[in-house]
This record gives sequence, structure tokens and C-alpha cells, in this order.
Amino acid sequence: MFSNTQIGIDLGTANILVYTKNKGIVLNEPSVVAIDMKTNQVLAVGEEAKSMVGKTPENIVAIRPLKDGVIADYQVTTDMLKQIMKKVSKKLGLSLRKPNVVVCTPSGSTSVERRAIHDAVKNFGAKEVELIEEPVAAAIGADLPVEEPIANVVVDIGGGTTEVAIISFGGVVSCNSIRVGGDQFDDDIVQYVRKNYNLLIGYRTAEDIKMEIGYALIGHDEVQMDIRGRDLVTGLPKTIKLSSKEIQGAIRESLLSILEAIRATLEDCPPELSGDIVDRGVILTGGGALLNGIQEWVSEEIVVPVHVAPNPLEAVAIGTGRSLSVIHKLQKAAK
Ligand code: ADP
Ligand code: MG
Repeated sequence: MFSNTQIGIDLGTANILVYTKNKGIVLNEPSVVAIDMKTNQVLAVGEEAKSMVGKTPENIVAIRPLKDGVIADYQVTTDMLKQIMKKVSKKLGLSLRKPNVVVCTPSGSTSVERRAIHDAVKNFGAKEVELIEEPVAAAIGADLPVEEPIANVVVDIGGGTTEVAIISFGGVVSCNSIRVGGDQFDDDIVQYVRKNYNLLIGYRTAEDIKMEIGYALIGHDEVQMDIRGRDLVTGLPKTIKLSSKEIQGAIRESLLSILEAIRATLEDCPPELSGDIVDRGVILTGGGALLNGIQEWVSEEIVVPVHVAPNPLEAVAIGTGRSLSVIHKLQKAAK
């Protein structure tokens, strides 16, 4: 049996990952594009583009075309996708000939945008192109038995969005998507520090703060961190100390919106499936699942077991790559 190469692409709001069945994750880069505004040309994508942020002449801008979970500029998105495919085919060599590709698209994308993504991949030489919904991919990647008639609950906390879904028998039974994710926490931290300390910090710094001393709404031993930024009054660099309790307060509202989305989805659950949720619980994926204390906090609030996927940042990509066989199995089952 000769099988074609199967490639899964997770087109995330913060990161793009590419997975192949044989080689695992072959590409993992930020979903950032550097564009020359004069010529409208894409100069760089991924890591290279991210490193250009704030360090280039004015006519070159680095943007995240998928930032809010919708495709803000699909020309740029498809250009980015083409560059990504180029990088992957370089890495994999000839084995990329006529691959079967599954792309996980943001849930907010319209049918026109989906078509554009489909065509961009197809034009690149893919044999078969399928699009998959993010929560389904996340569930497959987290090894949940999505093809069985039981409730699989996934909470994917990405950069720009959080998606909550109940999946049973291969389909989404109930779901919610909100435009609050890990990036919102960064934004909250930037605002908090500016308001309370008159200090301007960058988003990279805010993200570091979140990862190091950010906590979900749980009790914990307070930790501190030295932060450097620019004093808004004097214009000079300045260092301050921030505590984890302050950061917890700063991201509180955003955390509560995520919790609200989880609650709303569970309330929509058909009663026949509710029992499964009590037994099997909820699984967290996406980078936000790595926030300190989030598993414990969500579990306390919704009173069902909560698990974090083994590789939360990679679950969607892995699931996207594996989904072809699941899709085929489901189609067989439906016959
Ligand atoms: P997307 O699927 O939207 O591209 P990801 O699942 O890749 O998003 O998650 C990216 C988000 O996860 C970012 O907001 C990032 O700051 C956040 N993140 C990554 N690692 C951690 C961590 N250790 N703690 C808290 N947040 C994290
Ligand atoms: Mg994602």
C-alpha cells in the first residue's frame, strides 16, 4: 500500500504548526507576516517576521493577519500560507509531492475565506484539501475518542480566541467561540502597568510576565518579578517590581469571560451527554492551558474533572494531521 503524505496545518491566531504523520511537527512559527507597505509585498513570515517587529523602517510592518480569530486580510493570509508551504516542502524534500492536506481554520472565517485557503493550498500542488474545525482537531490531537457517541469536551485557549465545544460521534454538538484568549491577558497586563505605574511595557514583556507570574483565580504563594519599561512621565527606562497577586487581578475579567463561555457550552449540552461530562471531564488545549493554576481553577468552578492535553500547544496540529483517517472512518461508519 502506497499512501500519500498527509499534512496537517494549524493556522492559529498566534502560531502556525505543520504536522506530518511520519515526522511529527515539522514547522512551528508565529503567525506573523512582515510586509513592505510601499509594494504590498510579503518580505518574511514566521520567526523572521516576528524578530523584525518594531525594528524596521516605517514602510515595513509586521502584522498578525489572524490575530482576532478572523482572517483580517485573506490575501496576506494566503501569501503567508504559501510561504509556509514552501518552507515545509524544502524541509521534507520530494516527499511533499501531491500531499493530502488538512487545514484547521479559525472558526470565525467566512466561506469565502475558507475557499481562499483551500485554493491556496490546492494551487500549491496538494492532491486533496480538507478543512477541519479547530475544536474537533484539538480533540483528536488530545486523543479523545471523538468518533464514539459520547461527550468529549474541549476548551482550546489560543492567542486570539477561546473555543469551547462538545463533540460526539465526530461532530460538534454544542460550541462557543469568544475573542478572548492568551493575547487578551497580555493586553490586560500592559494596561494595568501603564495605569498603575505610568510605565510603558511591550507585549513581549507582558507575555513573559503572564507565563512567569500569571495565575488563574486560585490561592497561591505570592511571587514577584522585576519589570523594565519606559516611564511615561520622565521618558526614561525604569524597573519596578510586580507581584503575582496584582497580575491575577489584572487578568481577572478575561479569565471570567473564558469561564462564562465554558459554562454556556455545558448548559447547552443535551442531557443524555451530561453524564459523560461528569465522568470524563473537560480537556484543555491551546497555549492558554499552560497558565499557572488554570486546570485547578476551572475544575473548582465547574465541578467536573479538568485535564490538560499532553502537548497543549501542539494538539490542534497533531489532530489536524491525524484527522484524515478519522474523517474516513466516520464516512465509512455513516454508510
Ligand atoms: P493559536 O492557536 O491561537 O495560535 P496557541 O494555542 O498557539 O494559539 O496559544 C498561544 C497563546 O498561548 C499565546 O497567547 C501565548 O502567550 C499563550 N501561552 C503560551 N505559553 C504559555 C504559558 N506557559 N503560560 C501562559 N500562556 C501561554
Ligand atoms: Mg489554536
